[in-house]
Amino acid sequence: MATIKLACFDSKPYDVKFIEAENAKRRIDIKFFAERLGPDTATLAAGHDVVCAFVNDQLDATVLDAIHAAGVKLVALRCAGYNNVDLAAAYEKIHVVRVPDYSPYAVAEHAVALMLTLNRKIHRAFPRVRDNNYSINGLLGFDMRGKTAGVVGTGHIGKILSGILRGFGMEVLVYDLYPDPAFAAASGCVYAPLDELYRKADIISLHCPLTPETHHLINAAAITKMKRGVMLINTSRGKLLDTAALVDGLKSGAVGYAGLDVYEEESGYFFEDKSDEVMLDDMLARLNSFNNVIVTSHQAFFTKEALENIAATTLKNIALFFASGELPNEICYHCGKVPCPKKSSPDGKCF
Ligand code: NAD
Repeated sequence: MATIKLACFDSKPYDVKFIEAENAKRRIDIKFFAERLGPDTATLAAGHDVVCAFVNDQLDATVLDAIHAAGVKLVALRCAGYNNVDLAAAYEKIHVVRVPDYSPYAVAEHAVALMLTLNRKIHRAFPRVRDNNYSINGLLGFDMRGKTAGVVGTGHIGKILSGILRGFGMEVLVYDLYPDPAFAAASGCVYAPLDELYRKADIISLHCPLTPETHHLINAAAITKMKRGVMLINTSRGKLLDTAALVDGLKSGAVGYAGLDVYEEESGYFFEDKSDEVMLDDMLARLNSFNNVIVTSHQAFFTKEALENIAATTLKNIALFFASGELPNEICYHCGKVPCPKKSSPDGKCF
């Protein structure tokens, strides 16, 4: 079989390291591009069979048409989320695969790190002690045991997080479009309508995908239904949360804490060193000004185990497709599920 040619966009040194280590077994011809994939960079894909993309690469109709015309047959996302891909535009042109569950532990554990840091104010204690200030005024936290957590989305990550929080002795209310009663029975979590979860939870953590239905799921109306002083954690996608409404909630005290690994307009900032530049994003600057907000730069996935799994599954997805046409991690163009429950329907399509 001819050598597979792969164009890997938005490549950082850690991507190159883990993908090259995995490729030692496979010998795919990989060209790493630091550039993000978008209308201005799509021409770089010319001469390649596959494009490997990450969360902030832009895979809209224009880009998909351009890379299709350039001969690309497969888009291999090296991430779980796929909201940056216009699946309808890809349909019958380019197959799109992802890495569905490279390490749900990495993301769930990062959500817990944000919760504990915010609650026990470690981010404020650390610089104080380094400045020889050993006062603990203002650092009062709360026992998590006995409190109620609300977990929105009980897929791979939401389930792991729920289990960790049950281990803390928390009551865990969960919400999902497709509840899993066996998981609830085994874990002691309780499925509840979203309004009840909002009303009762002391900490709310988002683990559903970004879809038209979940865009600004947490907006001003939702915040008014929550306990005053609620802690909001978002490690999923920035646009699940209306940032302006969050800022208003933080200013009024309706929201007591926010831990954000993702941000609505993150693509201009996250993953890049902007420390020599003037901050131009007023909303991000405002978020960073609150002492009860922690923003991390989309690093929840960033563990050694996750990067090894991402590299292994991404290259396996590619090798399998070109060897046998198999696409076990193809994203269904209609429902987004992997595998699509309707893939076995007589017409073989979910539409
Ligand atoms: P998953 O597909 O296993 O689970 C998602 C769950 O959300 C499913 O159970 C689904 O039924 C549910 N869901 C879908 N629409 C919903 C809705 N409207 N309301 C409530 N629930 C809904 O996904 P996962 O692996 O658990 O990942 C969850 C999200 O985390 C991903 O979509 C991705 O955006 C994000 N993520 C972030 C990072 C990071 O580094 N910050 C890393 C990986 C994934």
